Amino acid sequence: MGFHIVKPEKNMRKAFICPTKYVQGEDEILNLGYFVRTFGKKALLIADKFALTLVKDKLDATAAKYGIEFIPAEGFKGECSRNVVKTLQGIAKAAKCACTIGLGGGKAIDTAKCVAEGEALIIVPTIAATDAPTSHSAVLYTDEGAFDDYAYFKQNPSVVLIDTKVIAGAPVRFLVSGMGDALSTYFEARANSVSFNRVNACLPCGYTGKTAIGPGMQTLAAKALAKLCYETLLEDGYKAKLACEKKVVTPSLENIIEANTLLSGLGFESGGLAAAHAIHDGLTVLEETHKYLHGEKVAFGTLAQLVLENAEQEEIDTVIDFCLTVGLPVCLADLGVKELDAKRLDEVATKASIPEESIHFMPFPVTKDAVAAAILAADALGREAKGL
Ligand SMILES: [Zn+2]
Repeated sequence: MGFHIVKPEKNMRKAFICPTKYVQGEDEILNLGYFVRTFGKKALLIADKFALTLVKDKLDATAAKYGIEFIPAEGFKGECSRNVVKTLQGIAKAAKCACTIGLGGGKAIDTAKCVAEGEALIIVPTIAATDAPTSHSAVLYTDEGAFDDYAYFKQNPSVVLIDTKVIAGAPVRFLVSGMGDALSTYFEARANSVSFNRVNACLPCGYTGKTAIGPGMQTLAAKALAKLCYETLLEDGYKAKLACEKKVVTPSLENIIEANTLLSGLGFESGGLAAAHAIHDGLTVLEETHKYLHGEKVAFGTLAQLVLENAEQEEIDTVIDFCLTVGLPVCLADLGVKELDAKRLDEVATKASIPEESIHFMPFPVTKDAVAAAILAADALGREAKGL
């Protein structure tokens, strides 16, 4: 499909990966036509059905104002598979579309990334639940909806456009989950920054660490953004949650949308993933966790990473307090796991520590027994904080 993977070289080069443009504001979708116009007059529109109904009036208005046309992606039923991507590429070609738009949640965005293959791509997230919109990777599924493969593209989106009114109108659980995904960013980047000083340093980037696609070490910019991401969560997280509950846009909600999407997106892609996301992956072997969102599992994974690296108690307390304040999981029961016997815990730890996992980007050797211990200890800390 033309996916481009850059083999990292073992040198001291620094690298920073980001989308070309990021715009965020109230009713920003009214300006979508302007960005389409920079490519041409027609855009393939890959959209979640539900999201489309929410923004249809704004799409009509911007199309009329800028004299552009949205070509509907017939054939997109909510799954991102190789067949769907092929079909949509055919539609785009036949209609002579100048660019591709992905509008909605994860699947519409991933499909648009695969269809565009790194060229002329506009991403319009309608929820702020993960930090994926700005990245140059996507997840492919089979036609039946099972995991297929990760796809990496030669470029990040050309434009990431966020209408903050739309995010404010979405269920608050998505925003909070996005904060969980963003919570890991600083700690995973920090772990990677220490790893880089070691001889066998791994390189940042990639959802799995399977293919280290970030061809270089952390820039000062990535470190600063990751730190700002964490500080913004602590400062504005609770206020933003309340604003989203009231479905209003406030400065704190604006800040959290930026933290969840831009700061976390750039922070993870140029700062690297580590234990928190690997432990998330491990938790997915437990059926009970499947109804919980990515960021909800990443939040607990972050707590487990802090235990694994023996972070200071004060820092652990701050993270737990934050999670409890905004409503993120701090223990296994919060993820639906009522009982975890030794066998299932071992399965989680085994999956979290397979050789391809980003857990090995931690600045020390990690064994599966250490992961299992960290999960149990993190659970105990979280339960105690909740008075369980
Ligand atoms: Zn994530």
